[in-house]
Amino acid sequence: MTYDRLVCANCAAPVSEGRCPVCRANRERLQQEHNFFAGLNPMALIALLAVLIAAVALLAHQTA
Ligand SMILES: [Zn+2]
Repeated sequence: MTYDRLVCANCAAPVSEGRCPVCRANRERLQQEHNFFAGLNPMALIALLAVLIAAVALLAHQTA
């Protein structure tokens, strides 16, 4: 997720430069969203892996 190329509707400058309060608010919000997804994805991956292992173990138990 990138906001480097996002242009502010208020000052028409890149939001990442934070030239006006609208820029800074948007930048902060986008950074929080970025951090949220960055923190979420490894957890989702681990949960998916756990489900996959459980499914394989169940399948192996049933067929054996
Ligand atoms: Zn701005």
